[in-house]
Amino acid sequence: MLEKIYETIRGILFYKMPKNAEGHVVVYDHVLEGWHLGDRDVLPSNLSIIIYGSSENIGDAAFGMQEIEHRITIGISAGSNQTENSEKLVQELARLVYYSLKDYRVMWIMDLCPICQKWALTPEHFTNQHNTILSPFVTAAQSAFSTLWAETHSSPSPAPLASGIAADAFLRMYEAVRNDTSVTNLTEEARLNIKQMQKDLLSPIRLIYGVKISEAKPSDDGRGQQLLKQGQFTLTARELVPIVNAGPDSVPIEAV
Ligand SMILES: [Zn+2]
Repeated sequence: MLEKIYETIRGILFYKMPKNAEGHVVVYDHVLEGWHLGDRDVLPSNLSIIIYGSSENIGDAAFGMQEIEHRITIGISAGSNQTENSEKLVQELARLVYYSLKDYRVMWIMDLCPICQKWALTPEHFTNQHNTILSPFVTAAQSAFSTLWAETHSSPSPAPLASGIAADAFLRMYEAVRNDTSVTNLTEEARLNIKQMQKDLLSPIRLIYGVKISEAKPSDDGRGQQLLKQGQFTLTARELVPIVNAGPDSVPIEAV
């Protein structure tokens, strides 16, 4: 449920934080080597970010729609040769984490691209990298957007969000593969990858909204931890998930 959200937060932090000439994230002059998912007792490095500890509140939001409230912890830790240096380091790391994430209110949560196996942070990857496959679906998505707009407006529609159109276009292609409609320029390998994603019940593109850092503790007092200092952020976000009502008889009769 959360793996890709964790990966997305880690990806955004890595992308935004300052790096040295070798491309490593640095806090002051210390290289941040620990990027972990899941909490642990023993930290493998003395400067790290750990994403863990979620609780999920799931409720019915509307007919055919559930809303999940994600609550995710981002832990930071720093250790140096002096207590004061550890404190400065953890405070600077906390500042960088906060400034990297504070502007996000909405995030795309992507799965691996079934066409090139890369992991992108925005659906625009599909229209930028695989436009020969996606272009007819982009046209369909744009025209659907204009039609919907025209139902309630007499003025022409504004330009839709590029990543929104890319997401709509990709999902149209994804459904075409599900329905065995042929898709021009889509390789057999990519088609089989999409079929496998569908068997695995994957949601290739998700959107979380209401994203915010709702609590921050830039440093603990560090007592009993020698030179280690730790901080903690809580990030909350919401997600809508479509559901279909399935009754007691909605299994095939050969299911045993
Ligand atoms: Zn790709």
